Amino acid sequence: MTMDLRDLYQEVILDHNKRPRNFGALEGAAQAAGHNPMCGDRVSVYVRLEDGRVAEARFTGNGCAISKASASMMTEAVTGRTPEEVQGMFSTFQDMVTGRADADDEKVGKLVVLSGVKEYPSRVKCAMLAWHALQAAIAGA
Ligand code: ZN
Repeated sequence: MTMDLRDLYQEVILDHNKRPRNFGALEGAAQAAGHNPMCGDRVSVYVRLEDGRVAEARFTGNGCAISKASASMMTEAVTGRTPEEVQGMFSTFQDMVTGRADADDEKVGKLVVLSGVKEYPSRVKCAMLAWHALQAAIAGA
């Protein structure tokens, strides 16, 4: 990875941390919470399904830049997807941040900016926290 690309990724992460998208509770929606005691991150994910697809996904919580940016980008990425597609994105994203698979931006889209997490194993939980909560929320929807 070139230094320029790294800087760009860093900038996108900091932007999502500063101005998280889809931030705030969603009344009457399925909800699940997650806590990462290693870092102190807390997140609640809200999801509303309609016609078998994610019509709306939002989150609240507090945590490090990685956890917040990951939640913010996730809510954008999963909107309009079926639960099966979300499951596929979860696996692809997990493979990317744990370094099991190379980052493939055709598959993960904008989420590729979090690929650098694989170099910091202690941050994997930060990046995955919102995804686990989303899976739980969908399962309970
Ligand atoms: Zn964290």
